[in-house]
Amino acid sequence: MTETTKKIFLITGVSSGFGLAFARAALDAGHTVVGTVRDSVAANAFKRMAQDRAHPLLLDVTDFAAIEPAVLSVETDIGPVDVLINNAGYGHEGTLEESPLEDMRRQFDVNVFGAVAMIKAIVPSMRKRRAGHIINVTSMGGFITMPGISYYCGSKFALEGISETLSKELEGFGIHVTAVAPGSFRTDWAGRSMVRAGRSIDDYDALFEPIRRAREEKSGKQAGDPAKAAQALLKVIASPNPPVHLLLGNDALKFVREKLSSLADEISEWEAVSSSTDYAD
Ligand code: NAP
Repeated sequence: MTETTKKIFLITGVSSGFGLAFARAALDAGHTVVGTVRDSVAANAFKRMAQDRAHPLLLDVTDFAAIEPAVLSVETDIGPVDVLINNAGYGHEGTLEESPLEDMRRQFDVNVFGAVAMIKAIVPSMRKRRAGHIINVTSMGGFITMPGISYYCGSKFALEGISETLSKELEGFGIHVTAVAPGSFRTDWAGRSMVRAGRSIDDYDALFEPIRRAREEKSGKQAGDPAKAAQALLKVIASPNPPVHLLLGNDALKFVREKLSSLADEISEWEAVSSSTDYAD
């Protein structure tokens, strides 16, 4: 790898799952990685991955006031960030009616506002340099939905929309934006990281209980391999023409295609109504 192809990555949430896999692959490829963690145990584990090129950064992405100074210190002490990967996030599970509004705020604080705050801190320097790549880890749940994860899907739909809009605002400055939407992968997402709302309304038992049970049983057995996702991501980052949206996993491919096709069918079915609302002039 030449000096010019060596990049500085800033990845949020490198303690486990995708973040850890992305960091490992980037370090193995010779890049420098600043990885955010939330405690000293995770910081030390990350540092040990490459003493000279793995730089832990203690940061909770909902500590909005801390983000800009943290990014500035990275750019001063380590160097300008070439690739930002907004990976930190978690899943909230619970029917909308049973889940407190506060759960939704927290879900959006981490999955949406945290990512946007990171972007706002990084963009000025990328814009000055007319270069950079922002990767937002969304989800197939940013395209498809299922009962019991409305807050999560809402947050990932939001991040998909923000990413696509941002890509149009930044393309003139040579900055790429890619929303990466994985299917089900073997990480801690459905295990220790998931926030599961309590149950209070029997009416939802028949719909929701099998979904909750199936997710618990599948945790640790998902088809998606984070290490392979990391290799896919490196390919995208190396591409001169990276995609704005990238699905990862055969489940994501299948379910998103089905969703787009049923959406197209529904649009056609209601076309006469949709097209009836313009002024006549
Ligand atoms: P994971 O193994 O649970 O990793 C989540 C990471 O995010 C951890 O490092 C965690 O840090 C960090 N994090 C959570 N809240 C944070 C906060 N407030 N501030 C800073 N860091 C925080 O799960 P994962 O699957 O790798 O999740 C990574 C991303 O992939 C998430 O955005 C998730 O929604 C998305 N995703 C996952 C799947 C899947 O099937 N696994 C599918 C689609 C999308 P701590 O160790 O400190 O908790």
